[in-house]
Amino acid sequence: MTTRHRAAACLLCDPTAADAAFDRARIWERDGWRLSVVLRGPVAGFAHLEPVRHIPSIADLDGPEAATFGPALAAATALLRDATGAERTYGYLFGERVAHLHVNLAPVHPGGPLRGGPGMVDPAAAALEEVVHRAVLATVLEAARARG
Ligand SMILES: [Zn+2]
Repeated sequence: MTTRHRAAACLLCDPTAADAAFDRARIWERDGWRLSVVLRGPVAGFAHLEPVRHIPSIADLDGPEAATFGPALAAATALLRDATGAERTYGYLFGERVAHLHVNLAPVHPGGPLRGGPGMVDPAAAALEEVVHRAVLATVLEAARARG
């Protein structure tokens, strides 16, 4: 265990408190990951997949959880899709409210309340100029080369 195993003020490091705060029920906990279904809101089967150990964000993912993330995510999304009869399961990573890595998983049903990727963008937002996109592309490519 590292010193990041449990952060003192982190809600998701206290799963009992997190379950109470979000009206969650546990589906499974294995291989360093915890899957819980949220029992409120407009999407039945909405779930949280989070590492048991405190990892602040996806950018901080390391250790054994980095190796087990893919299989855990695939298992959780397939389970939710199949068990709810959904077309697919969306996965969202935000991190503004709770600084403990968690993937919000939402089963998608035709005509349901979810809007997909475009629904995450303010409909009033103007498209950026191509020059802005290309400048950011150059910055990301340069950073990727620097990191190897
Ligand atoms: Zn935590």
